[in-house]
Amino acid sequence: MSGAVLVLNCGSSSIKYELLRPREGARVARGLVERIGEGSAAVRHVHAGATTSREEALPTHRDALRTVLGLFDEAGPPLAEAGVVAVGHRVVMGGRRFDRPTLIDEEVVATIDRLSPLAPLHNPPNLAGITVARELLPGVPHVAVFDTAFFHDLPPAAATYAIDRATAEAHGIRRYGFHGTSHRWVSRRGPEAIGRGPDGLRQVILHLGNGASASAVVDGAPVDTSMGLTPLEGLVMGTRGGDIDPGVLLHLHRAAGMGVDEIDDLLNRRSGLKGLSGRNDMREVRRLAEAGDADARLALDVAAHRLRKYVGAYAATMGGIDLLAFTGGIGENDAATRAATAEGLGFLGVAVDPARNAAPGDGPRRISPDGAAVDVLVVPTDEELAIALDTMAVVEGAADPATAGAAAAATPPA
Ligand code: ADP
Repeated sequence: MSGAVLVLNCGSSSIKYELLRPREGARVARGLVERIGEGSAAVRHVHAGATTSREEALPTHRDALRTVLGLFDEAGPPLAEAGVVAVGHRVVMGGRRFDRPTLIDEEVVATIDRLSPLAPLHNPPNLAGITVARELLPGVPHVAVFDTAFFHDLPPAAATYAIDRATAEAHGIRRYGFHGTSHRWVSRRGPEAIGRGPDGLRQVILHLGNGASASAVVDGAPVDTSMGLTPLEGLVMGTRGGDIDPGVLLHLHRAAGMGVDEIDDLLNRRSGLKGLSGRNDMREVRRLAEAGDADARLALDVAAHRLRKYVGAYAATMGGIDLLAFTGGIGENDAATRAATAEGLGFLGVAVDPARNAAPGDGPRRISPDGAAVDVLVVPTDEELAIALDTMAVVEGAADPATAGAAAAATPPA
């Protein structure tokens, strides 16, 4: 039996976790804590087909993680007996510093902390998780797997915002990209599904979940992505609108008197599908649109228009497109979004076979017609398994942790 990895994804009021044996692709246990810091938190732990749920006050991430570790003892499997060889932490912002999964030491902790102003909603809770987990599970290495790492080496033409250079450099303003673990995973699994490696392929990957992002990948390396300094840019999402004229924000401030917090709330929580239709869940938006709701119809049209624009733009960036992959809750399950994205892109060789598109399936599958110029695929993402495999690779490559630390230290400062 190979080693197990505990994957932790700590949000501001939640902890998502999974225990896996990544080399066997085995899922051992998983769970979710929600509403940390609120009156009553909800905890759900799933192991061997049984779900254990409870509600209790969990004021801090420390309390929540203690409860999670207790649940492993109570509902199984006890971590002490599970052969845990490492803990893998999802970290959203790795800045200019981290271009790969990295063994966590004091200096790495300090750098993640230093990067917090670039990701104020994400890095602080990620770091809280790391700090508490290192305290409670001191006997194993902890590894940080960054959402931004895959996009670390984007070409400067794609990563640079055309604003005053000194201002941009002083404040770390550039395109960092997010969902990198998923884009990287899909950029490998997609080609595999058609019996290829990523070399020689021009791929567009659409990760469509509550957050959504697109990437253009040539020979396995990303050349552009739609999220930028923050996860606000790009596609239309559940509650975020993606691309917007920055002048709109100046106008709302000057003419409507909106302050920065109000604008932040508008952009992060009152935009996208939710802003246009009142619902952020794609299933509900579709249901409303089918019932004749004009706002829901418009929301779907705006989202699909944006998707087609990005596929076209990335095909132009890459000089063509060989593979178009859909992933995430919407990308994997919503055939109508896939069909609407492909509509009108026949000139690029993009086509979707209606029967294949409508057929349910679990694994990677092709939905383009036989002989089509572009392979259009549905490729389920698996961020937990990807993080666990990355964590394992770091731990095994780091027989001498000091060497790993030195390699990390050699990368440019954040
Ligand atoms: P997250 O970004 O939080 O991980 P997911 O990848 O789980 O989100 O995606 C959530 C989105 O997927 C929601 O908008 C949800 O409505 C949508 N979704 C899930 N299942 C379906 C389905 N069968 N048909 C259409 N949309 C779906």
